[in-house]
Amino acid sequence: MSWPQTQQSEDLYDQITILVGSAIRLLSGDAGVFVVSNEAFDPQSNTEYTLYRLNESALMPLLLHIRKIKQPDSLCPLIVDSLPPTLVKQLGVCDEDAELLRDANGAKEQPVLECCSLFVSDHAGLIGVLHYLRPLGSSSCFERSDESEGALRLFIAHFAAGLRSALKWQSLIKEQRRLAAIFQQSAEGILTVDTALRIIDFNPAMERLTGWRENEVLGRFYYEVLCPKDRLGNELGKQDSLILQAFAGQTVVNREMVISARDGQRFDVSVAASCVRSSKGEPTSGILTVRDITRERLQEEQRSTFISVISHELQTPIAIIKGYASTLARADATLDKESLRSRLRAVEEEADRLNKLVGNLLYASRIQAGGLQMELMPLDLSDLVQKVTHRLQVKSPGVTVKVNLPPNLPTVMADRDRIEEVLENLLDNAVKYSPDKPVVTVVCSATGDEVIVSVSDTGMGISLREQEQIFDRFYRIGNGKTPSLQGAGLGLYICRAIVEAHGGRIWVESALHQGSTFLFSLPRLEKAHLPMVVF
Ligand code: ADP
Repeated sequence: MSWPQTQQSEDLYDQITILVGSAIRLLSGDAGVFVVSNEAFDPQSNTEYTLYRLNESALMPLLLHIRKIKQPDSLCPLIVDSLPPTLVKQLGVCDEDAELLRDANGAKEQPVLECCSLFVSDHAGLIGVLHYLRPLGSSSCFERSDESEGALRLFIAHFAAGLRSALKWQSLIKEQRRLAAIFQQSAEGILTVDTALRIIDFNPAMERLTGWRENEVLGRFYYEVLCPKDRLGNELGKQDSLILQAFAGQTVVNREMVISARDGQRFDVSVAASCVRSSKGEPTSGILTVRDITRERLQEEQRSTFISVISHELQTPIAIIKGYASTLARADATLDKESLRSRLRAVEEEADRLNKLVGNLLYASRIQAGGLQMELMPLDLSDLVQKVTHRLQVKSPGVTVKVNLPPNLPTVMADRDRIEEVLENLLDNAVKYSPDKPVVTVVCSATGDEVIVSVSDTGMGISLREQEQIFDRFYRIGNGKTPSLQGAGLGLYICRAIVEAHGGRIWVESALHQGSTFLFSLPRLEKAHLPMVVF
């Protein structure tokens, strides 16, 4: 007889496989399977069965056959049954001596294999059944005499003890791997400490958060590494340790504090501390979970800035419109034609302002929903720049507007109305953020791939740090604490969305108190990615 080679996996030599294989060999078997009982099965840790020199494909037919015959139990722990030759073939066991399968006349096939089923249990109950195959008529040392029954029961007890501990071990290993994966992959920083608060583990999220590598902090006091402070800036030393509070039995969750990264950068975190205890209830180690809440803080700040900016931006025009409308509506109002016209013009301007704000808010929500549609067509930027700058000059005669357009500026592929909005926004800002005598310069230039438009002013300028943020939604320098300058922090956000939807870029070059240059690029007609037309 020859037995198929089962695929060797990393688990082949695990404890259970070794135990099952040794048991089968001791019982004079050649191959088999141990099927874990429902009671002993742990879905998190155990596989339902362990094969020994038997193919996966043989398992089903074998188990189906076994189900039809008598099952072993605690009273009769070993059942032996000969296997039909058809099943032997199905199991993939080669009959090297095919003659053995036939009777003397060579007609009828004879059984050559038997299957034994061993009931494996201990004081805690059934662990499983070991089914193994052996040549018909073989017997093990546990079956050869009447006294062997005691030996068989002793063997079962040993086998069961080995299996219990192997199953437990398997369960512990898998549990350990799962916990290690959680620890390694967690998006939250996790560190563990001993009872003296010295770091034992420091996960990758903690490394990313603090800039410290695990091997640099192991054995150090965790509060010396994180330098925690409360939100008022008071240092939180050992005596304030949240882990000590957890050791003392307190529930420590969602505690906010400020910690330091390796480079000294400080950031807001929300912390939870817990304690691992021995079977006697004494603390053995502490766990600190750290979540970076800087972004949440920023969003909260943005939300409150948004509310204050929007309410201010709405209140001002409404108050002006209401004031003028009340004056005009008074029965005793006697206004000459010019005063009447100037008040009506003011009402119109404020209504325009409201309209623009509401339009911008709608625009911003459409950008967020990803619904910005462009109608791209060939566009002559020189023509558009001249039109928009001329309009600015008429509207604001006090502003010096300079335009520098090269001859034969290449055509771009763009949505004319949207690019007009971008230009208007940049020009408005250039005027708005230039407190004295604004000088605004618009320059267009072309590279091999794109046309670049720049809008420069000689105004207040923008610090390097804030240059990164001004394109964010609702961002205003100084949180819009200069109420004299109207705005909701949406203009540049919208400009960036429009330019990027064209496949272009927008950026700023600026120096504080010296002025700013906003630049944006649009792809040249021949370089634009046009939608493919299929005929
Ligand atoms: P806002 O409606 O507040 O003007 P923007 O999105 O257009 O909103 O601009 C965002 C912030 O960028 C402004 O609040 C302002 O602080 C700053 N900023 C924009 N343009 C300029 C500029 N040309 N010079 C100086 N600061 C500017």
